Amino acid sequence: MPPEPLPSHLRDRIMDDNFWGKLEALAKMGEKIMPELAAASRKSGQSGTLDQRIEDRCEFARVGVKLAAITGSPLLSPGPAPRRNPPIPNGMMYCMNNIEKIVCRDYGPGKKPEFSKLAYLLRRTRHLLRIFYDCAVDGHAHPDLIFCDWEKMFDVGLALHRVGLCLRLDPPRLRAAMAGGGKELEAFLLDDELDIGEFRKAAFIVEQRVAADVEAEDADRMAAGKINSAAQKDLAAHILSWFYGDISVAFIMNETSSSDANEKRWAHKAMKRLVLWSTSTTYHSTLGDSLTDAMRPIYWSLPVLTKFGLAGGLGALFGDWVNSACKEMCEDVLKKLPDAAWQKQTPTSLRTVTRALQLKLNQETSEIAITPIFINACFNMYKLYDLAPFRKAAKCEAHHDPVVFYYVAHRIKRDGLDMCIQQDWRRLLKDYVNMPRSVEQRYMWGNQTISGRWDCLEFFGCDADGCPEQTALEELRAKRVRGVRDPDIEERLERWGSKPRACAACAHTSYCSPTCQRTHWQTHKPECLKKRKVAKRS
Ligand SMILES: [Zn+2]
Ligand SMILES: [Zn+2]
Ligand SMILES: [Zn+2]
Repeated sequence: MPPEPLPSHLRDRIMDDNFWGKLEALAKMGEKIMPELAAASRKSGQSGTLDQRIEDRCEFARVGVKLAAITGSPLLSPGPAPRRNPPIPNGMMYCMNNIEKIVCRDYGPGKKPEFSKLAYLLRRTRHLLRIFYDCAVDGHAHPDLIFCDWEKMFDVGLALHRVGLCLRLDPPRLRAAMAGGGKELEAFLLDDELDIGEFRKAAFIVEQRVAADVEAEDADRMAAGKINSAAQKDLAAHILSWFYGDISVAFIMNETSSSDANEKRWAHKAMKRLVLWSTSTTYHSTLGDSLTDAMRPIYWSLPVLTKFGLAGGLGALFGDWVNSACKEMCEDVLKKLPDAAWQKQTPTSLRTVTRALQLKLNQETSEIAITPIFINACFNMYKLYDLAPFRKAAKCEAHHDPVVFYYVAHRIKRDGLDMCIQQDWRRLLKDYVNMPRSVEQRYMWGNQTISGRWDCLEFFGCDADGCPEQTALEELRAKRVRGVRDPDIEERLERWGSKPRACAACAHTSYCSPTCQRTHWQTHKPECLKKRKVAKRS
């Protein structure tokens, strides 16, 4: 398959003599903003007037968008409709102004906010976001585009975030809004399915199909990736996610033992939504950091976090620790995570946890496996769910994933380890970290799907150039027809990769046979001596 051509704007930039200079400047700006972002992620808006608290909590989003500006994010794109003063009736700015007026300014003694209009205005906002992004993703023009009159898309998200925070930080106001907004508002806030857009839905379905297909090939994965990158342009749900997050958190935090039936129902629905959005890969990648931003109050309070964990949301915290602008804050929380939060997890939620741990290992070094967060997670999962989550994680490991869960599940079963104290886990994970490369290769090979093995022949089995068995297998691969399986050939393939012998001196290369090892010696010798010296020094 020919490599994908670079998009023209990227090609022009690389041709530009100043490209690397500019890139360096961008990286420097990013470096300055990252600490600012980490500081903002800890701002909890706990003191001052309501307005000050709202601004405090919005700080994180505002700093975040500075980063987005560096990469030319579509968050800053203007709407296609002209801006007017006063704004176009029923346009986006008209809706925003009215929502802000009703919620933030019209509430108070002697005032009568028109909460009954909120549901309509919010629906209209959601509709305009949807048609704008449908047009951005696949060019589908809708007549209502003439109502898309914002200056910067981010301002829409931020305005909604303020409204959400205003309701979140002032429980009586939220109660009044719910009473005035009635069933319609409840449906918008708590019942309507989140609209992530047709492209993201399609990407999700294709991705699942590829994952379930043992014969899936790199080409299938690339095709799925292509749909996915088109889907990334759709930010309709992302823009709403601060608001949705704030509101859901508000309902969850407002529930107390004295709450009435309505509040209990709202809290229950909000919890279900928030757990789903924050732990499902599709939803979370759609909603992104803005959801994490809005969810921070859940992470700040250990009792609420435990409740959230018990509802199946634990994976969200792990996911945000690996991949969000709140990494450091999440790490602090994970260090204090009570064991109780591990109970009642669903297989899906545990899969989110193991997925996050795999990604973390991929991002950093295998040493991560012997840090307290990792050890503690394995210990708690095993104590409550036995080998199931490890097996499930092992089955989903792709060829470039660390084989940690496959390794531990295999070792526990084979050696009959009992693993009942944290120390047992420390020891086993230490074995994983110190595993020689040939052993790792063997585990990876054992964990591959059939097509994974065919796809990645070059990376396994034998390091000798021109290994005769590898060449023979490559020829068989070329003749292979999808859907036609030959058990004899598959067994031969399996056998070739399953017992690599390592170079005894350096443990860095491995071979399918002693002959191949001898053939490769002249090539390998200089590297081998170097590796041995390094090993001695450390
Ligand atoms: Zn591959
Ligand atoms: Zn060989
Ligand atoms: Zn060697």
